[in-house]
Amino acid sequence: MLNRYLSGLLLMVLATCAGPVSQTGKFAVDSVPAYESAWQADLASAQTLFNSLKTYSGPASVESTLTLLNDLEFMLFKGSAGAELMANVHPAEEMRSSAEQAQQAFSNLATELGLSREAYDNVVAVDVSAADAATQRYHANTIRDFKRAGVDQDAETRAKIRALQEELVVIGQDFGKNIREDVRSVKLDSVAELAGLPDDFIAGHQPGDDGMITITTDYPDYLPYMTYAESDARRFELYIVYKQRGYPANVEVLEQMIARRHELANLLGYETWADYITSDKMIGSAQAVAEFIERVNEVADPASEVDYQMLFRRLKKLEPDAIEVGDWQKTYLGELVQLEEYSYDSQEARQYFAYDKVRDGLFTLTQTMLGLTYKPYEAEVWHASVQSYEVWDGDEIIGRFHLDMHPRDGKFKHAAAFPMLPGVTSKQLPEVALVCNVPGGDGTPGLMSHGQVRTFFHEFGHLLHHILGGNHQWVALSGIATEWDFVEAPSQLLEEWIWDKASLQSFAFNEAGEPIPDELVEKMQAARKFGNGLGTRHQMYYAALSLNYYNRSPDEINTTDLMVELMEQYSPFHYIDDTYFMCSFGHLDGYSAIYYTYMWSLVIAKDLFSRFEAEGMLNPEVAGQYRRFILEPGGSKPAAELVQDFLGREYNFEAFANWLSSK
Ligand SMILES: [Zn+2]
Repeated sequence: MLNRYLSGLLLMVLATCAGPVSQTGKFAVDSVPAYESAWQADLASAQTLFNSLKTYSGPASVESTLTLLNDLEFMLFKGSAGAELMANVHPAEEMRSSAEQAQQAFSNLATELGLSREAYDNVVAVDVSAADAATQRYHANTIRDFKRAGVDQDAETRAKIRALQEELVVIGQDFGKNIREDVRSVKLDSVAELAGLPDDFIAGHQPGDDGMITITTDYPDYLPYMTYAESDARRFELYIVYKQRGYPANVEVLEQMIARRHELANLLGYETWADYITSDKMIGSAQAVAEFIERVNEVADPASEVDYQMLFRRLKKLEPDAIEVGDWQKTYLGELVQLEEYSYDSQEARQYFAYDKVRDGLFTLTQTMLGLTYKPYEAEVWHASVQSYEVWDGDEIIGRFHLDMHPRDGKFKHAAAFPMLPGVTSKQLPEVALVCNVPGGDGTPGLMSHGQVRTFFHEFGHLLHHILGGNHQWVALSGIATEWDFVEAPSQLLEEWIWDKASLQSFAFNEAGEPIPDELVEKMQAARKFGNGLGTRHQMYYAALSLNYYNRSPDEINTTDLMVELMEQYSPFHYIDDTYFMCSFGHLDGYSAIYYTYMWSLVIAKDLFSRFEAEGMLNPEVAGQYRRFILEPGGSKPAAELVQDFLGREYNFEAFANWLSSK
């Protein structure tokens, strides 16, 4: 699934970080003045640490200089991450606005740090030759990141960089806000236009005072409607308004974002933003991303063609004159193909996926696999529906997490893990929030689709990575601070358990207490093979869009024309007039040119999974090694080495290619 994870924060900043006392992320403040004074106090602490680092004149050492930087990175992490979460989840609009100001303030300070010659000179002066490997890596990465931030440019250039960075924060916030706050809808004349939808959906969508039924572009409405609604005309209408979110406001915002990033990359000595942003990733260059997209496309093409023909044949039964499958039809037709060709009824499956049971099952599964215990506790949180847990390893507490799982007005519309505090050995427990939009929390059983179960597992994979990777001295190596194009692998890997019969039957029970039947799981597994090819090719369209907005001069780009051109080139489906997908493609801000990272991580995740597949999904030895070799090291080693440690060999493309070609 498409998920975001820390957006702006990781971009320029020395990846961030832990402080002197153990804290918990408190967000119960509900007045703007109280919240403002809290974040301003944190900002003042960060500023004081920054001044100390710049003016430090004692002997340079790991204990003095690097510890000072580490404490500063902790405060920047805490301030930025807390504000990012608050800006996306707080129920009150004025609190979200204050959080956006906090994001800007912390981001500006991080930019200043990255451009500070004094801070840089003090860090470079530290001799780490006798230090441990993690400290050496921290030191080397820090120097690299200072240079990537522009510290060795002249004063005039650094001033321009600072101004561009500050502008980009505001541009990114505007882009996100225009998506988040633009909820559109279609009005249905009668219940007849809900034909095909599940009963609980119909019950939850009664006509309003005007006699009309409203279907919004929020996921809990949009996804079921596009999957099940028999009315092709209404799905078409909903598809169009969904793909108009953020339009027209975000056309200009996006064009500014692209232009400013291009200027920034030029100032930093790179030809394009794509060259800049890929240079510290596993993949290494924008050219390699382009080649990766072509390679994946080629591998996926035969399976995609088979998938497409199945959809097309099904469409011909409904519309004998049809000449092609429309983008708004693929989900609905895919559902029919799964039902008829594989006898898999996704609605039949939903009864086994009540939110509370899925959550409990996911808890039991991961606690058993990884040797952990989650204990509920009362935390000060931002909304009454949020549930909080401590994570224990034997008799030791190792982290905290919060689940904010159900939709509400003004909340982030997607699904993501938001780290709140980084783990620092003996100083700070890691803390993280999951923000999703799945059914439940409203007095109904909250029956989830299998796809929503998958999203939950995916995000929980990020959560576990942040917590289990959170025992490091250096904030910049803690938790998910690994190479960005590896970061999705642990979350994609955890998705595999939602297809495993024994795992499913340990938690998927219907209201009568019956476990999901063997036969249904088998059909689900068979139907899973359908759609991978098409889905992969569509993902490569997103990856190509993300890359191509950033790998050339902005003068050559008309964002709408380029989107249409790339959709025609990469997606198996044609562009639909009056749609502007790029205006609601939030990743264009947070991920910029590197949407490919999802597929890159998936290649590795499939390879990691090959060990569980061969040695047992619940094999405690494999799970233990996975915890030790992949999750616990955080960013303390290059990701390629972690994978090598776990697999006993270098990762390769084979498991991924097999997954795509198996029918
Ligand atoms: Zn993810």
